[in-house]
Amino acid sequence: MKKCFCGADKPFSACCGPIIKGHKADSAEKLMRSRYSAYVTHAIDYLIETTHPSKRLGLDRKEIEEWAKTNVWQKLEIVSSGEYVVEFKAHFKDRNGRNQLHLEKPRFIFEKWDLSYQDCECVV
Ligand SMILES: [Zn+2]
Repeated sequence: MKKCFCGADKPFSACCGPIIKGHKADSAEKLMRSRYSAYVTHAIDYLIETTHPSKRLGLDRKEIEEWAKTNVWQKLEIVSSGEYVVEFKAHFKDRNGRNQLHLEKPRFIFEKWDLSYQDCECVV
């Protein structure tokens, strides 16, 4: 069976796919996983929609799109997962083919039953 881009043991169509299509993630980890898969599948609107409105202003759609498309996403590693905080490592190759590691410990918040990415405490 093909794994989802996020590394879960189920296909994209039964994992992050439906969440990106509009079925809300019900946990911070699922939201985080779906955001990673959104980078892989270039679902830029989803990345913007799942960012908390208070942080959306600073987002640059073109920049997010560039970042999603120029990198080759290889693997997502969940380091620890809590109710509102998920620490993860994203492995990818940059435009020069160099291996890169992105470490992040983002915070998520529930608002009006919507879970969104609030901000991150970047580890590196
Ligand atoms: Zn997934």
